[in-house]
Amino acid sequence: RNFAGEQVVTRDNISFADIGGQASAIQELREALDFIKNYKQIQRLGIRPLKGILLTGPPGTGKTMLARAAASYTDAVFVACSGSEFIEMYAGVGAQRVRRLFQTARETAVKQGKSNALIFIDEIDILGGKRGQTTSHHEYDQTLNQLLVEMDGLKVDDQVRVLVVAATNRVDMLDPALLRPGRFDRQVKVDLPDKKGRLEILKLHTRNKPLADDVCLESLAKETFGFSGAHLESLANEAAILAMRENCQVIYRRHFHEAVDKVIMGDRLDRRPAP
Ligand code: ATP
Repeated sequence: RNFAGEQVVTRDNISFADIGGQASAIQELREALDFIKNYKQIQRLGIRPLKGILLTGPPGTGKTMLARAAASYTDAVFVACSGSEFIEMYAGVGAQRVRRLFQTARETAVKQGKSNALIFIDEIDILGGKRGQTTSHHEYDQTLNQLLVEMDGLKVDDQVRVLVVAATNRVDMLDPALLRPGRFDRQVKVDLPDKKGRLEILKLHTRNKPLADDVCLESLAKETFGFSGAHLESLANEAAILAMRENCQVIYRRHFHEAVDKVIMGDRLDRRPAP
């Protein structure tokens, strides 16, 4: 096996229109991507290329979706992995995986005839935590150093232009070296959706579902304060499952209400401390 969980997504494109309620994050991200798209001018003026974008915010708010939409927007191959995949017991393995990750991104782009690659690293805090805090973290240090080396080496006139997008909900935990100019120097906040955002997300996730006349998505959006996009997706799905169990042809309001409780309960169970 070459690499733990690195995943190249080629089909099933996601666009910014598939993401509900993240208008300001989408706008900021788009601005950064438009800058990158202008690479000829960047080259001509000798501007330092933007190599890394950090998406920060709570789980389930659409950071992975945003990264995938960014890849489609820039016509880049999308290679995803998680920070946890770099943590190994043996010295040097994590660093080697980082090298392979960048290599895979470049090779895949060449194979597909694309000049852009987007590497997505979820949970970057696991590999990019502050260095040298404890001696046992020596292995993480090497891995993080390798990531910095790879990023420092990215050039605007490379055959394949690589952009690294990383996600975290613990930006305070990151090693400051990652946030220095030329690395992740653009940060985009991805917050929990507000009421309007929740409505947009509910609309997106019920567009393929038959709803009864008594279902009011506006009031559901009001009643789901604190829900993330992932919660709302699972709410719509649970409601449909409940309707199926009762052999209903459409999904009624009561199914949604029951599903709200289920999602809240499920979330509580998820957050129980490990035994
Ligand atoms: P994590 O930090 O846990 O990796 P994330 O922020 O990357 O979470 P995603 O993986 O992008 O979140 O979202 C999980 C699922 O939740 C998506 O596949 C989608 O179904 C739904 N979802 C989350 N946010 C949104 C959104 N803003 N609009 C539509 N669907 C969303």
